[in-house]
Amino acid sequence: MSKKKGNLIVISGPSGTGKGTVCKQLLQKHSEIAYSISATTRAPRVGEVNGKDYWFLSKEEFQQMINENKLLEWAEVYGNYYGTPVEKVREVLESGRDMLLEIDTKGALNVQKIFLKEATFIFLIPPSLKELEKRIRGRGKDSEEAIVRRLDEAVGEISRGNNYDYIIVNDVVDDVVRKIEYIIEAERCAVYNN
Ligand code: 5GP
Repeated sequence: MSKKKGNLIVISGPSGTGKGTVCKQLLQKHSEIAYSISATTRAPRVGEVNGKDYWFLSKEEFQQMINENKLLEWAEVYGNYYGTPVEKVREVLESGRDMLLEIDTKGALNVQKIFLKEATFIFLIPPSLKELEKRIRGRGKDSEEAIVRRLDEAVGEISRGNNYDYIIVNDVVDDVVRKIEYIIEAERCAVYNN
């Protein structure tokens, strides 16, 4: 029998849903899961580190990665470009480890075209739009213009949640992480992933 490949776990949700917190907790509990560090043209936020949070690139460098087919998927999100470096994904999955991608819905749809069988798509939604606005404002990292834009786009993002395998309301972080752990466990046993 050939060695079992790792599974791709794709997590999306509108900005401010708390995806970051959920993914962080999941990765802290599961060092066996690798995290895909995205490339982006967005400027680093305070405290963000190149090569840890993102690969921060110029528009020219990002375009070069597209031209050289070095991105598994990419999308323009809130006026910046984001993409998943493909080489690392291949390497990790081949080694048998699972890999987590935290990407937007447009990018996730593109990943579905390539990895429908080997990937699990999880969509996190906020308990309400009011709560979402509270969370985005509460983190105090974005300008008013960026906040309005993110809230506007959240509505479109939520409507694309129907294309996912699982939808989880992000109410209590521990509960959400537990649900994702169950999903990952089940996927590791799934016949169609073997
Ligand atoms: P932020 O700027 O808040 O870190 O991320 C903004 C959005 O970009 C989030 O919805 C996040 O999921 C998405 N994103 C981050 N990395 C990638 C990526 O590699 N590809 C795509 N398509 N979206 C990404």
